[in-house]
Amino acid sequence: MQNLAEQLENARAEVARLERIAATATCREMGCDMQHAGGMNCGCDQGSCSVPVYVCTRCGDSDYGDNQEALDKRTACERWTEGDL
Ligand SMILES: [Zn+2]
Ligand SMILES: [Zn+2]
Repeated sequence: MQNLAEQLENARAEVARLERIAATATCREMGCDMQHAGGMNCGCDQGSCSVPVYVCTRCGDSDYGDNQEALDKRTACERWTEGDL
């Protein structure tokens, strides 16, 4: 079993390793802070519906409607459109 001094040394080495990674990591790698930023056209035939778009508050990166909520919405739209034919 490791003594306390060794455990501390290992923990410091791990922190140093992660700090080196974080120093060069992009915002996306660190985990973007995605916030709801409006909507965009869903692209289906109904014309009036929209899917949510999320934008990172730090780097400004946008998912352009590429998220689970949008996926669910488009799937629902496809079903609706097919049922109407
Ligand atoms: Zn970001
Ligand atoms: Zn739609």
